[in-house]
This record gives sequence, C-alpha cells and structure tokens, in this order.
Amino acid sequence: MASVTLQNLTKTYAGGQLKAVNGVSLDIEDGEFLVLVGPSGCGKSTALRMIAGLEEISDGAVWIGDDFVNDVHPKDRDIAMVFQSYALYPHMSVYDNIAFPLQIAKLPKAEIDRRVQEAARVLELEAYLKRRPGHLSGGQRQRVAMGRAIVRQPAVFLMDEPLSNLDAKLRVQMRAEIASLQHRLGVTTIYVTHDQVEAMTMGHRVAILKDGVLQQVDTPANIYNRP
Ligand code: ADP
Ligand code: ADP
Repeated sequence: MASVTLQNLTKTYAGGQLKAVNGVSLDIEDGEFLVLVGPSGCGKSTALRMIAGLEEISDGAVWIGDDFVNDVHPKDRDIAMVFQSYALYPHMSVYDNIAFPLQIAKLPKAEIDRRVQEAARVLELEAYLKRRPGHLSGGQRQRVAMGRAIVRQPAVFLMDEPLSNLDAKLRVQMRAEIASLQHRLGVTTIYVTHDQVEAMTMGHRVAILKDGVLQQVDTPANIYNRP
C-alpha cells in the first residue's frame, strides 16, 4: 500500500488555451478512500488518467509512496484502474477474465489460482467462475471488473465513475459493496464521480474539483456542516 501525492498537477489542452487540470495539490494517505467529485468536464478523468500514467502531465508531479512516477510507464506503476465500461472479454470465462492480468504478468499457475479464488471469495463470485460475462447481471460484471483489479494486489486503486452504467437500485447496493471492499482491503483508493450522494457517502474525504481547480478537501461531515 502507498500514499499518493499530487503536486501542482496540471494538464493543458488546445495549445495552452484550456487548463483541464489546474495546479492540483493533494496528499492522499496510505489506505485512504478519497472521492474526487465535480460536474462533467471539470477535469476529474484527466487528473485520474495522469495519476495512472495514461495521460501526459503538462506540469507538476505525481508521487506514489516515495516514488516520483511522472516518467514511469503505466504498467510499472503500482496501480489498478476500474472504468465505467467494464471492458470484460466476452469469449472468456469469469475465471479467465479475472486471471488475465496475472497471466500477462506470467505468474505461476498456482499463484494465479490462489489469487483468483481469493478475489472470487471476497467478491462473492465463486459460483460464477465458469460463466461468460454475457450470462451475468450488471452488478456481477462490475464485480468481475473489480476482481481483475484486485488480483494484481495494487498499492493504489483508481475508479472512474464505475457505477454510472448501473440502474439506481444496483448503484446504491454497489456503493456499499465498494466501500466495504475498500475497507477490508485497506487499499488506497481514488474514486471519481459526478454524483454528490456517492461523494458524501462513500469516502473518508471528498475533494471537490471545479474548472480544473481544487475547491475544498475535507471529510463528508465537515463539508456537510460548512458547505
Ligand atoms: P470530467 O472527467 O470531469 O468530465 P475531463 O477530465 O474528461 O472532465 O475533461 C476536462 C476538460 O478537458 C474538459 O473541458 C474537456 O473537454 C477537456 N478535454 C479532455 N480531454 C481532452 C483532449 N484530449 N483534448 C482537448 N480537450 C480535452
Ligand atoms: P501505450 O500508449 O503505451 O500503448 P496503453 O494505454 O495502451 O499505452 O497502456 C500501456 C500499458 O499500461 C498497458 O500495457 C497496460 O498494462 C497498462 N494499463 C493500461 N490501462 C491501465 C489501467 N487502467 N490501469 C493500469 N494499467 C493500465
């Protein structure tokens, strides 16, 4: 596990005309669940993608633990990311979908099996390991996507609106599941959403972003009492 430190993180587009992320500085503690919230277009995804290394940093720095990672390739960062589109492989079983990143990393078969079984247990997917994603509910598919992230045992979890494709009832259920999972794993998590209810109910702290600028970072209780 590791802390994440953002130092003056900045992304400019359109030849400098647009600052999608504008001087964001933030310390996310080891094991913390931080929710990054703000309206569509405020720069949440861009910030998250810079932390993942999927977007070039225009200015500033990202640290994971004690490591300065600006120039570190995405796959060499100790990070796993979950997107709103689950991007599961339709022709592969749930087991193989979860195992995939470990097979790519050429882990020993026994270790892969141990980690997949453990993830399936934590996510209550044991009964579905042989199924194809097309034969699962939306919530189960979301859990498979999380399983694929968990098995890598990353220091940091990044989630970009992971629940936005689910219906309202399932979204409420999955909010609680993700919060509980994060609590049990204790993995440092940055969760991006435009949904204020998610922001106020899921995380230890909430960071509010507007037009690329960080407005406020505090616990939900403090934000609620001093909006
Ligand atoms: P959010 O995730 O909060 O919806 P984004 O990070 O996707 O916001 O976008 C932030 C701003 O950056 C928006 O104004 C968006 O139009 C702009 N933007 C995002 N990606 C690009 C790009 N590749 N080229 C130019 N502008 C972009
Ligand atoms: P490139 O432009 O170098 O091909 P990609 O976006 O295709 O970059 O990703 C490069 C590497 O980053 C991939 O090999 C993959 O292992 C890793 N990667 C891609 N997406 C993620 C993600 N969401 N979380 C963690 N690592 C990722």
